[in-house]
Amino acid sequence: MLSTMQDVPLTVTRILQHGMSIHGTSQITTWTGEAEPQRRTFAEVGRRATQLANALRDELGIDGDQRVATLMWNNAEHVEAYFAIPSMGAVLHTLNLRLPAEQLVWIVNHAADRAVIVNGSLLPLLAPLLPHLPTVEHVVVAGPGDRSLLTGTDARVHEYEDLIAGRPTTYDWPELDERSAAAMCYTSGTTGDPKGVVYSHRSIYLHSMQVNMAESMGLTDRDTSLVVVPQFHVNAWGLPHATFMTGINMLMPDRFLQPAPLAEMIERERPSHAAAVPTIWQGLLAEVTANPRDLSSMKQVTIGGAACPPSLMEAYDKLGVRLCHAWGMTETSPLGTMAHPPAGLSAEEEWPYRVTQGRFPAGVEARLVGPGGERLPWDGESAGELEVRGAWIAGAYYGGAGGEELRPADKFSEDGWLKTGDVGVISPDGYLTLTDRAKDVIKSGGEWISSVELENALMAHPEVAEAAVVAVPDDKWGERPLATVVLREGAAADYAVLRAFLAERIAKWQLPERWALVPAVPKTSVGKFDKKVIRRQYADGELDVTEL
Ligand code: ADP
Repeated sequence: MLSTMQDVPLTVTRILQHGMSIHGTSQITTWTGEAEPQRRTFAEVGRRATQLANALRDELGIDGDQRVATLMWNNAEHVEAYFAIPSMGAVLHTLNLRLPAEQLVWIVNHAADRAVIVNGSLLPLLAPLLPHLPTVEHVVVAGPGDRSLLTGTDARVHEYEDLIAGRPTTYDWPELDERSAAAMCYTSGTTGDPKGVVYSHRSIYLHSMQVNMAESMGLTDRDTSLVVVPQFHVNAWGLPHATFMTGINMLMPDRFLQPAPLAEMIERERPSHAAAVPTIWQGLLAEVTANPRDLSSMKQVTIGGAACPPSLMEAYDKLGVRLCHAWGMTETSPLGTMAHPPAGLSAEEEWPYRVTQGRFPAGVEARLVGPGGERLPWDGESAGELEVRGAWIAGAYYGGAGGEELRPADKFSEDGWLKTGDVGVISPDGYLTLTDRAKDVIKSGGEWISSVELENALMAHPEVAEAAVVAVPDDKWGERPLATVVLREGAAADYAVLRAFLAERIAKWQLPERWALVPAVPKTSVGKFDKKVIRRQYADGELDVTEL
């Protein structure tokens, strides 16, 4: 029997129309570095997005599912592009501005982007690439920056504000298939070549609803979210879409992502929520320790993208800011889990839940698979690779123009589940604890050592600012851990002290013998520890290693 319900497509267009009308008075505040930030209501942003869609169609000739890229910071114009492009049926392609030039070129060519909307401040990055981007016919520049850098380019150059000025504020939005492409994002390539994940209207819609559920971020139009996680990093974790559904106000840092301006933004604009990777929170903590600021408005902070050291959570607890751990990937839109403890527990009882990656929402099915392909129980002990499936989880990668979708066997199981490459355990009540990424785990004499556990233990030492542990080749054991440590300013802890500190928390056979002090841990384009670089530095003899 068929249902008797209406079959209404779940589209980004619908989210736009809802946000700009029902939540028309909610605001996007964008930091400008000047006395006053830029403030725009959802109604204005929606109107301008509509004008942008008209301009893209009538002036640039964007048609069908052509790709329009953005090379932008988090700001109101970027949100306008987020809604204009998919709503007209085209595909939004967010470009990661921290990628090396050759990867950006590869990605733009692979996606065959026809136009790029770029922030003026990023023209020094884009301009030299343009001769290598034959598909890019149009460049639209928004915000301050030196336009003369584009002199001589073959692409047509447009000024964002001039382009949209005077355009109609209505658009006859097409009836879209909810399964068609709305946006795409390439994985940041920590694990090899970038791979294109293509989100559908439907996946974005359903994911936004999940982001808004109380068991996830659970915000309302009374909240303001400081969206630090870049719009080029998995759609800023879905926040621009989620906010237009429920009217959550957004505070956008634009290019002011250093700890000092972030601290100032929080004190002045008093957001109730924020979202960012752990390295941002580490930096902000050092900043407010040196120059105290009022962070008390932030009731909840979503932290993910890499494991959050428990010591960081404790430090923020003391400031009255509760970090809530979340796990996800580009391939999972990204919301996969969030670590809200079950009801009815004391603060002390909540702690072991808070330091997990969290539990799965109904929309994400999970299973653990052992080395031989066997399914492992959710007993909180059996460690295996996490595989997931759901309506906002990728089932393939984009194959490029005319190419077939890619389903590499190391990323997708035969029955279509996503192999996350993350290793962990799941408790009987569905809380995921990741022990490592499969490629970072240290395989020592047939046993596995978790690099994340060693890092967390090291970062709990008061004199350690950051620590990254990687596997290095060892004649006797196959692999052993190498600890690279960044000390706090003025700290003098030596390796023996750190090793003794670890010995109180970690089994003796897991303790690193190789140690190196480093000025900073190398980071990937989205601010995660770049262990590939550390392994290479070690192999090339660039680290000053002491053996204990
Ligand atoms: P990339 O794979 O290029 O780093 P992603 O942003 O998609 O790009 O990264 C997803 C990966 O980040 C996950 O597979 C996982 O290893 C890691 N990750 C994300 N959130 C967490 C978390 N809360 N704890 C530990 N690791 C995390």
